[in-house]
Amino acid sequence: MNMNKYCDIALNLLFPPICASCRETLPFDSREALCPVCRSHYESEKKFLCPECSFSHKDCTCMPPNVSRYASEAIHLAEYLKEDSVVRNMVLSAKNERNAYLYRFMAKELATLLSSRMDLDEVLVTFVPRSAKKEAEFGVDQAKEASRRMAKILGCEFYSLLYHKKSKEQKHLSVFERAANARNTYGVLKKNSHLIRGRRVVLYDDVMTSGATASVCASLLKRAGAVEVIVLTFAKTYPKQKPKGASLPRKKQIYKVKKSWFW
Ligand SMILES: [Zn+2]
Ligand SMILES: [Zn+2]
Repeated sequence: MNMNKYCDIALNLLFPPICASCRETLPFDSREALCPVCRSHYESEKKFLCPECSFSHKDCTCMPPNVSRYASEAIHLAEYLKEDSVVRNMVLSAKNERNAYLYRFMAKELATLLSSRMDLDEVLVTFVPRSAKKEAEFGVDQAKEASRRMAKILGCEFYSLLYHKKSKEQKHLSVFERAANARNTYGVLKKNSHLIRGRRVVLYDDVMTSGATASVCASLLKRAGAVEVIVLTFAKTYPKQKPKGASLPRKKQIYKVKKSWFW
């Protein structure tokens, strides 16, 4: 038993470990992120197929056009389902509380996925940074925690290359607002900008939604001299099917404009 394990057990006695999905208390000597039931659900969720290409998510090469403009590949592990799912709960837990077992587990999963999809020569790992306000509120930058551990497993260099300016939160904005907001949200860290030129950069974020954030961050890295940007996310959302009659308000608006021509 090594020193790390002793430390983990001592901490677990003070703060009993809980499952990152169902919140059930785990045995005090556990170093797992999930209970056996949630772990089994997680393995099933990973086997779901991409709704666009019908390949499994680990093999999916789908990429929104705004991302493919700057990134050579977008790799993800599973779908982020809006309804209750283990993947969704893991992403939310990682954001809302510091959980070293969860970051370690996510890092291992991401390392296995990334090494199966690409060669890692000259790769430099970085992440989409969280806002300073959110980092202070939750005491953690979840993307940094998972990607730093993943880079260590893979033996890749790891640096903070981007910073987060003060801006609105992406999750409450429409697709168009997200793109505009993301453009004003991120910048390249001056102190590390010299590290980017000529490198292949793996850019990690926990979830890809519209691709607005990934697109802006990838474009900044390319402009700073990266030869290639590979976007890696733990999960990816897919757009919902448009409900019938979704275009009704627009038609009404056009009718009103036409009517005004006669008055
Ligand atoms: Zn559980
Ligand atoms: Zn796909």
